[in-house]
Amino acid sequence: MKEFDTICGIATAQGEGGIAIIRVSGSKAIEIVSKIFKSINNFDIKDMKTYTMKYGNIVDIKTCEVIDEVIISFMKGPRSFTAEDVIEINCHGGVVSTNRVLEEVVKAGARIAEPGEFTKRAFLNGRIDLSQAEAVIDIINAKTDLAMKSAVMQSSGTLSQEINKLSKYLLDVLAHIEYDVDFTEDDEEPDASLPPKIIASLTEATSEMDKLLKGANEGKIIRDGLRMTIIGKPNVGKSSLMNALLQEKRAIVTDIPGTTRDVIEEYINLDGIPVKITDTAGIRETEDVVERIGVERSKEKIEEADLVVLMLDTSRELDEEDKEIIEAIKDKKVVVLLNKIDLDRKINIDQIEGLENRIEISAMTGQGIEDLKAEIKRLFFNGEVDNESLIITNNRHKQALLRALENCEEAKNRLKNNEYLDLISIYVTSGLKALGEITGSEVEEDLVNKIFSEFCVGK
Ligand code: GDP
Repeated sequence: MKEFDTICGIATAQGEGGIAIIRVSGSKAIEIVSKIFKSINNFDIKDMKTYTMKYGNIVDIKTCEVIDEVIISFMKGPRSFTAEDVIEINCHGGVVSTNRVLEEVVKAGARIAEPGEFTKRAFLNGRIDLSQAEAVIDIINAKTDLAMKSAVMQSSGTLSQEINKLSKYLLDVLAHIEYDVDFTEDDEEPDASLPPKIIASLTEATSEMDKLLKGANEGKIIRDGLRMTIIGKPNVGKSSLMNALLQEKRAIVTDIPGTTRDVIEEYINLDGIPVKITDTAGIRETEDVVERIGVERSKEKIEEADLVVLMLDTSRELDEEDKEIIEAIKDKKVVVLLNKIDLDRKINIDQIEGLENRIEISAMTGQGIEDLKAEIKRLFFNGEVDNESLIITNNRHKQALLRALENCEEAKNRLKNNEYLDLISIYVTSGLKALGEITGSEVEEDLVNKIFSEFCVGK
């Protein structure tokens, strides 16, 4: 009965803080906590009303020695996060105090929860579906307001409603087909009005799927961030650009070439779009071991990047090193930054043919930085980033939706070729199954476990 025994975990971030919360969930939550909680007037928490709090102490289960002064709150199932009885113990937020309280809860009979197990219970108990559970992790990980907003929307069930609506179209199609197959005698022609009706329903479904999928690339960037790598030989001004974008001195700026030895990563918030910027050590060949590690990692970062920002120094002539770098990034989406335009110009830009997307900047004065930001938005977003409509942000959902779409298109094509309705229904059923993977009604246990294992402990 591991599935539904009573579990406990530290729900707040580990470390020192004002308070920490230990969450206990399961049918024995009250019974377990009552063994170690002593209120001042000996109140029995088995009489506690839902959504109320009690002040008291957590005591050692054997010696009754006071461990910490706490407030407990009670949320009776099913109206709780997990849909089970939940007790939250608010104790002092130190590493030792929190762990001591947790230890007593375990001694009293609860099991330490696995990562994501509280949210998994909310899903298994039917309070939320899989896409809503996944939104919980997205809310926690959100890097910008926009990412947060779209995750909150998803957690409230907007995506689920849309998917259920799409499923309804496909269920209708299957009902029509079944009816026709059941009521048509072998020697009879099938009802001729049926195929156009089915095609109409399928077309409704596919056009809505198309609409949802259109925003999915942007959605992925909003959730996971855009990976941007700044590349250029030493001293062109990469760290200075990073600082200008971050608007604070973080990377070390020096006049000695090669001081940005390793890869530095930071997030900036570009009008709601999280951009993860990597400042690299340059990719030139080097004898220096420390720098060589940096160089290897730079190459990896170029491979992973959604956008490569190549930086050139306009106050110097283009040299072999610049050309080598240009060679290395040929196949990527590239913006060329012509830096140091506040100085006299020596560069001959005719030599950088093929890289037409160029912006003149001065990382020192800040000139041109806004142009760079505008260009990033133009490259990855069609028009303004919309924060009202539903966006698919999760790649798992996108892949499932694509499969649903393919199956529906296949069903439509075969119907147009007058193929048997039985055969059509196979594709429609597959499409329905793919939709069910998003909400979790049609999903393998292994995948469910994998999704929840990515959660943090205590969530
Ligand atoms: P990195 O090695 O590519 O990271 O280059 P840094 O950011 O450390 O810059 C190298 C030097 O160039 C520093 O002295 C910066 O102050 C200077 N620098 C960077 N950008 C500009 C610029 O736009 N104009 C001028 N005049 N100097 C700059």
